[in-house]
Amino acid sequence: METLRLRRVQDINLENKKILMRVDYNVPIKEGKVSDDTRILETLPTLQHLLKAKAKIILISHLGRPKGKDDKKCSLKPVVQILEKLLQQPIRFLPDCIGQEVSQAAQSLKPGEVTLLENLRFYPQEEDNNDEFAKNLAKLGEFFVQEAFGTLHRAHASTAGIPKYLPSAIGFLIQKELQFLDRALNAPERPFLAIVGGAKVSDKIGVLLKLVEKTDVLIIGGGMAYTFLAAQGISIGNSILEKDKTDQAQEIIEKAYAKGVQCLLPADHLIAQKADAQSPTKIAESMAIPEGWMGVDIGPHSMDLFRDEIKAAKTIFWNGPLGIFEIPPFDQGTIQIAKAMEEATQNGAITVVGGGDSLAALKAAGVAEKGITHRSTGGGASLELIEGKNLPGLAALTQQKN
Ligand code: AMP
Repeated sequence: METLRLRRVQDINLENKKILMRVDYNVPIKEGKVSDDTRILETLPTLQHLLKAKAKIILISHLGRPKGKDDKKCSLKPVVQILEKLLQQPIRFLPDCIGQEVSQAAQSLKPGEVTLLENLRFYPQEEDNNDEFAKNLAKLGEFFVQEAFGTLHRAHASTAGIPKYLPSAIGFLIQKELQFLDRALNAPERPFLAIVGGAKVSDKIGVLLKLVEKTDVLIIGGGMAYTFLAAQGISIGNSILEKDKTDQAQEIIEKAYAKGVQCLLPADHLIAQKADAQSPTKIAESMAIPEGWMGVDIGPHSMDLFRDEIKAAKTIFWNGPLGIFEIPPFDQGTIQIAKAMEEATQNGAITVVGGGDSLAALKAAGVAEKGITHRSTGGGASLELIEGKNLPGLAALTQQKN
């Protein structure tokens, strides 16, 4: 992977330098408090490295979707408390990310101090990749460290813009993300199994086309499995269907067959009359779904089949839920996959999991920290990397001259 030749934070002299670091603190906030601090924890190795080197740190991030407006619900202020606890030092918070006050604060930073700026997306210029905005942000630091893996696939000012104006490097988190994906894709211990779920074929067609080239077994579950079943002429009742994608689904099945890749679809289903927890449910014991019913999760036979594949695999990549995970009891197939992944890891398999729902399933299933080899912090970014797309945030770093 070309991206593995990027400059790393450990390759630069940080002492007394003002380091502008883009992090992904897009954390869930409940009643003014951070309810899940995983994304903050993930940045600790780089933060500690910078602090040890006596750098002056200016942190920038987005949170939620304020749509270019100063929406206090999306403020990054609740992050301060968590950071202070983790780093055991005071963190200065500024209620803006550009302007005079911010420039002065950046100028007066002392070695080992940390300042967190307010949400970049309070300005529409961030998502518009506005050049002037990127330039103003870049003026705050002497060096830029990119650590927001989950936003690398977006061409925003803080991803694609800043590296044009500041020498830049990637932090430990991005290094880890790239290494795991590279190893899984390009030098996997075999058998290599990929499990892809989620709602839409259209979102994942590129990824599936790539995975079919690389894997030994490809499991397709979740809502998109129904477009694949329909493509084979199997009745799917009222299950979610992308009619215009059946040709592409068929292409993937044919490609898998030609390459000797085993492509598995759900062999039975949990079906309901509506996507509603109160709806009556039953098991459809074959691939076909009766009229008036929809597939909401994989069935018990599929679960056994998929579990056997997970047990046999040496490298496993998983992205996307196998059922309507948000509505218990339709979450069970996904939770069982999470548990089987933990067992596989304990038995020596390399397991890589990405995507918000899959990560939530690991949590709901009580999978331990070490129960998965690598939890990717960027579902969308990791899928685009697998697809072989050029990620604007990485492209900007590779095009650096200084
Ligand atoms: P994605 O963002 O593409 O990973 O898709 C996640 C969504 O897929 C979740 O909101 C799930 O509810 C949805 N999903 C999974 N299985 C099904 C299904 N059988 N029918 C409809 N939606 C599903």
